[in-house]
Amino acid sequence: MIVMKFGGSSVADRPQIEKVRSIVALEQAKGHRPLVVCSAHKGITDALVNAAKEAAGGRLDAEAVIAKQERVRQELGVAEAVLAPLYQELRDLLRGLSLVRELSPRSLDYVSSFGERFSVRVIAAFFAQLGTPSQAFDVWDLGFVTDANFGNARPLAGYEANVREAVAKLDPEVMPIVTGFIGKTASGEVTTVGRNGSDLTATLLGSALEVSEVQIWSDTDGVMTADPRIVGQARNIPEMRFDEASELAYFGSRMLHPATLLPAMSANIPVRVLNTNRADHPGTVITRQAINANRVTSIAYKEKQFVLTVSSTRMFGEAGFLERVFETCRQCGVVVDLVTTSEVSISLTGNAEGPIRAAATKLAELGEVSVDEGRSIVAVVGQHLASRRGIGAEIFGALARVAVNVEMISFAKGSINLSFVLSDADVGKAIGALHEVLFEGPAS
Ligand code: ASP
Ligand code: MG
Repeated sequence: MIVMKFGGSSVADRPQIEKVRSIVALEQAKGHRPLVVCSAHKGITDALVNAAKEAAGGRLDAEAVIAKQERVRQELGVAEAVLAPLYQELRDLLRGLSLVRELSPRSLDYVSSFGERFSVRVIAAFFAQLGTPSQAFDVWDLGFVTDANFGNARPLAGYEANVREAVAKLDPEVMPIVTGFIGKTASGEVTTVGRNGSDLTATLLGSALEVSEVQIWSDTDGVMTADPRIVGQARNIPEMRFDEASELAYFGSRMLHPATLLPAMSANIPVRVLNTNRADHPGTVITRQAINANRVTSIAYKEKQFVLTVSSTRMFGEAGFLERVFETCRQCGVVVDLVTTSEVSISLTGNAEGPIRAAATKLAELGEVSVDEGRSIVAVVGQHLASRRGIGAEIFGALARVAVNVEMISFAKGSINLSFVLSDADVGKAIGALHEVLFEGPAS
């Protein structure tokens, strides 16, 4: 069995969904048995979230998002009865929110879940009409029961056996089309694994089912050496390791949800990232052992970060100073990305302003505190960073030549990720210069 996940742009409308059908048919022709995981059609989840917020503000409008979904249903020629009960459920739910004027993480998940519930139903019905026997499933009907951590739910320990048992009972001749992104608690409350989380659903199902491969289909030619919107010369990376891809996902490469690779990594299942619009492109395969001959693998970035710095002579020679800094960060809910320390100062980055400012206020009792905003983290990722001489010199030399000032640098022993902080205004220039020296030179 293989898992094939199609993102929102891959199932945006009828022409895209027809491409999906040919892609799936090709795998079937090779003798593979696909379990298909789908996102909502492009834009539907955003529209649902918006409708939920508006309803909670007293402005009830269920019809805009329903009309959006209706366009796709009609284009596909699927009967209205397939979605009518869900439309009614959504209308009732939004009306309820508009009455109580309240939007909890729990009700936001419930509203958000409709996009995937709609899409799998119309896609399965469409495939069946065209002669590919298919059946839609809400993932909870295949044993995917989660905790109650709304907005970031994870399956309960031991879910794998339930998924295997449920899938074993399916008719092998009928292709399952399964909702990404959503889940349900044991007591029946709808959850989500987080925005853009259908990738994660795919690897979680894939590892439970011990499939031979998880395919993630979206709209770029696999993982690229840099963001193609910034670097025209960006190119595909044919193979990379799980740890490299995880660092890239976390540090801003928009290819994959950051948690996606963990389940595949522990089950050692290859993840292939492919392009629905160019199905014959080999994309990127992510495995445990991939060898990348390039000096580095890829460059990613995260904008709009905050840098918190504490300087204190009390730090000098004192035990437990860092503990106090991190304990304060924990109390204030700062998720720390990069950290650098010297004898008298510590700088760390986070991306949420509220928690950083709260921590800064508390930390003022330890020393001088500053918060810099409008900063970007640039991450250069590659498996040879720790062992090959001169890569650092090339990186910082390139930045110096385009007059970019580097404010903070982090590289752990043996690391595959050299990250640094610079001003948001410099990020385009910096990435362009780095890509040129690391990927476009003669010895790359
Ligand atoms: N439809 C969800 C979202 O837009 C999940 C996904 O696309 O992966 O966040
Ligand atoms: Mg999406």
